[in-house]
This record gives sequence, structure tokens and C-alpha cells, in this order.
Amino acid sequence: MRELLCELLRLFYDKGWVSGTGGGICALEAPGRLLLAPTGVHKERVTPDDLFVVDASSGAILEVPGDASLRPSECGEIFRAIIARRGAGSVVHSHALAAVLACDLTPDDALVIEGLEMLKGIPGMSNTDRHLMPVIANTPREPELTSEVSRVLDDPRFAGAQAIGVRDHGAYLWGEDIWEAKKHTEVYHFLFEALIARRKAR
Ligand SMILES: [Zn+2]
Repeated sequence: MRELLCELLRLFYDKGWVSGTGGGICALEAPGRLLLAPTGVHKERVTPDDLFVVDASSGAILEVPGDASLRPSECGEIFRAIIARRGAGSVVHSHALAAVLACDLTPDDALVIEGLEMLKGIPGMSNTDRHLMPVIANTPREPELTSEVSRVLDDPRFAGAQAIGVRDHGAYLWGEDIWEAKKHTEVYHFLFEALIARRKAR
């Protein structure tokens, strides 16, 4: 699991989704034990020894990395809110430009995605469905997003969403395990890029 998280950070870095030390990732390695990447580091260089283990319920740090200069990801509280409310096993935080530009396409708190085969990559969706992804406003500090994240997770309009867009910032994406989180991260980034390209073409 540790190796896999680092591999995904490298893959996502190569796509420009966690560049400039931004973004993050976590996954449950056992019930209640959350592996969490450090903050403010070059994400493509994170090693298995650099990960924190935190209590998925309380957020208490259970194990620290060997490198004492590392600090746990600022997304920890948001990750835990998504895990608690959606039963997610893994959450990705993206700083992709496509996520930022996709949020610009809606003036309110819901991004409509429709008319794309890739929608089938979201559980329960078909290519004829109209998918609503929540979009929230950015805040000066990442943990301050938690209350808005919790609000949209509780909003029945977004019951089928596996991602939350954050204006001028990026997105949180999740799945029931690390493989599903990877899949949803790829699916939504394709959808973001498709919406932007289509809007441009009009
Ligand atoms: Zn961020």
C-alpha cells in the first residue's frame, strides 16, 4: 500500500495533477489506520518511509516518518470527512489546471456533466445520465474547506458524486479503495478536460 501510494503520486505528478508540491493522497491500510502523505514536499519524490499513519476517526498521529522534518498533509481533516461520510478507502487531492478551469464553467455550486461515455466510470452512471459534481469556494487555509466539504457531502443532489471541485484550487476525488480512487481521479480529470475543450470549441 505504501509503495502504491508513492507510485500514484508519481503518476499524477507526470500528469500535472500534483505539481509544485501541491495535492495529496491517503488510503486506509487497515480499518481505522490511514496512510497520509506529507505536506509541502515534491510529491514525485515521496517514499514509503515518508508516510504518516493517522487515526481515521480522531486524526491523531499514530506513526511518524523517519524524517522528523516532515509534516502531515494539510488535507487530513478533509480526507477524514470524506472517509467518514462516504465510506471511502482512499482520497486524492488534485491541483490540476483542468480541475480549476472546470469549476469556472459553473456560476453556482454544481457542475453539470453529461453526454460523455466516460460517465460510465462513475458508479451508477450511464452515458445518458446528467451528473452533478459539487463545487465549493476556496479558503485561505486548506483545513478551512472542511465545513463546506461536509455540507456538499450531505447534500442529496450530490449523492452520486465521487469528487468535489474547489474553485481556483483543484479537486478532491475518492473511491472505496485505492484502485477505485485512482479510477475516479482519471475519470473526472478526463471529464474536466472534455468540458473545457467543448466550451472552447463553441
Ligand atoms: Zn490543495
